[in-house]
Amino acid sequence: MTTLKTLKDLYVEQLRDLYSAETQLVQALPKMAAAATDPTLKQGFERHLDQTRVQAQRLESVFRDVGEAPGGHICQALQGLIAEGEEMIREDAVAAVKDAGLIACAQRVEHYEIAGYGTVVRYAEVLQLPDHAQQLRTSELEEKDTDLALSSASSAINQQAALA
Ligand code: FE
Ligand code: FE
Ligand code: FE
Repeated sequence: MTTLKTLKDLYVEQLRDLYSAETQLVQALPKMAAAATDPTLKQGFERHLDQTRVQAQRLESVFRDVGEAPGGHICQALQGLIAEGEEMIREDAVAAVKDAGLIACAQRVEHYEIAGYGTVVRYAEVLQLPDHAQQLRTSELEEKDTDLALSSASSAINQQAALA
């Protein structure tokens, strides 16, 4: 627990939450990819794993810039969302239905990240850290693109799941 005296303190704490989220996702996304059957969905998880590693590196560079360490905080929301994902992975389900379920879990994660990055982008702007804002906005846009890609993958997969 840290003392939050300033918006800058809150900014760093929110960045730590995102860093914990990204590092948990680096562990979780390969399991999601392995559990997916649809090749587009599988590749989508693998592609987002690569993006997630870069997102963690972006956060590390922001931390270096403010002279703080990225660790020391665990994102409990992601622990919960990943536990739900693991539950879905273990589910005994027809392939298309399981794929639809994996998408449901993954979109919850992306929405959490979109909210988190949106928050820190606005803090970086008001704290007059335009380089941070730009880096963080890049990650925010990647999360939004991933959410859209999941939505578009879901149209075919939901159709198949409806016929299962
Ligand atoms: Fe991410
Ligand atoms: Fe969190
Ligand atoms: Fe993401």
